[in-house]
Amino acid sequence: MKQQINGTTRLLGLLGDPVEHTLSPVIHNNLGKHLQKNTVYVPFHVTSDRLKEAVEGAFALNVLGMNVTVPHKNQVMDYVTDLDPAAKAIGAVNTLVRTENGYKGYNTDMPGLLRAIQSEGIELKNRTVVILGAGGASKAVAYMCLQEQAKAVFMLNRTVEKAQSIAESMNQQFHCETMQALAMEEWTQLPKESWIVFQCTSIGLSPNTEQAVIEAKEFYENVEVGVDLIYNPAETRFMKLVTAAGGQAYNGLKMLLYQGIIAYELWNQVQVTDEQAELVYDALYEAIHPTGDNIVLIGFMGSGKSTIGRAIEEQYGYTFIDTDAYIEEREGCSIPQIFEKKGEAYFRQLETTVLQEMIANTHHGLIATGGGMPLRRENARLVRELGTVVYLNATEETIWERVKDSHNRPLLECENPQARIHELMENRQPIYQRAAHVTIPTDGRKIAEIANEIYEFQLRENK
Ligand code: NAP
Repeated sequence: MKQQINGTTRLLGLLGDPVEHTLSPVIHNNLGKHLQKNTVYVPFHVTSDRLKEAVEGAFALNVLGMNVTVPHKNQVMDYVTDLDPAAKAIGAVNTLVRTENGYKGYNTDMPGLLRAIQSEGIELKNRTVVILGAGGASKAVAYMCLQEQAKAVFMLNRTVEKAQSIAESMNQQFHCETMQALAMEEWTQLPKESWIVFQCTSIGLSPNTEQAVIEAKEFYENVEVGVDLIYNPAETRFMKLVTAAGGQAYNGLKMLLYQGIIAYELWNQVQVTDEQAELVYDALYEAIHPTGDNIVLIGFMGSGKSTIGRAIEEQYGYTFIDTDAYIEEREGCSIPQIFEKKGEAYFRQLETTVLQEMIANTHHGLIATGGGMPLRRENARLVRELGTVVYLNATEETIWERVKDSHNRPLLECENPQARIHELMENRQPIYQRAAHVTIPTDGRKIAEIANEIYEFQLRENK
């Protein structure tokens, strides 16, 4: 549906100071698009001395709902007509939901983080959790851990008094002794077992990306899962230290996504599906990972990626890279051998690693990808980060003609390869279309003509 502002459009917004770098409009305007809701979300730069007026003015203007960000999350609690109990306990409101008499304040950071970690299969029940930091976000994380019945929660902070005050108030609210406070350097006193760690300090945030709040390698030996609330950079130093010690690391982008989704659900009385959430996550990812200056060809085996790629290399001076050849060289064996010895899941992971290497090192390249490359959602995001993605489309008949004499296609080693092509294409076509910046039909066309169309498209995109 084409979106248009008209007489029934409802306004949503963000109150903060500053607001210029916010990603919230990406979340909410994409949700509006995918859920076919007539809403528009805009940031409002509001200083603390005008916050009361801004909330009252928004209500008078029939604004449907607002997010609230730094530095107003506490102060805004004075201007709501009703308060969700969790927001009251956390002491911070990030979402205002319109009611008959005024706005009701909610905190969606906490359920947003919970939904984000649950989407990664992380459970807090009976786990030992370490929270680094004792600011506004840490308090919401502490509340989440107690609500989810963690076994023990340790909050470590530079200013230990702040952590002590949060621990006391949380233990009181939950009638327990689960939470303890420590100074940051007292991490050596933590129990020697595996931990889930939430990194909630502002250390590691762009541009100070080379710092972590705890540098000692020994700390990370006990970290089974490390979640950094920071999402820019995508991989913080904390996350690198977690991964290097063998733990699993996640950034805060999914928390950002789900706190927005939960707010949108409250405003519009809707339920956002997993697929809609993925589409918004794609848009968020793209907003912080701009497209590189390469051209990436995707499509089914036999769709002409290598032939057309070589033509673009020759005519326009790009460096041709075939990801399958790159992988074979890197692994020292052929693709069928990798499939046979290690399986398809291993191969797809290898494709992810290779894409990450190329994003870091390749410029002005023409990359022809293996047919299954964008099947993993993560890889579909990475190809768009690597460069302008072109889906070369060909009919099943053309594909069959081109591949029938080839013996290097493990997926077609079966009794009825034509039926297999049909099945695979039905499955992959929508995935290719979603991953691509442009779809180009290739049947019956000259190679040079297609190469030129791709080159011209990329020029326009990179302007
Ligand atoms: P905050 O209230 O300002 O708290 C900052 C925390 O960082 C405090 O614990 C502070 O310790 C610590 N800190 C700052 N500089 C430090 C230093 N040089 N050495 C040691 N500790 C230091 O901030 P917040 O609102 O809780 O946010 C914290 C982080 O979470 C930010 O990076 C924010 O971007 C991120 N966040 C992400 C999301 C999301 O959706 N992904 C949502 C909310 C927040 P002291 O108490 O000793 O000063």
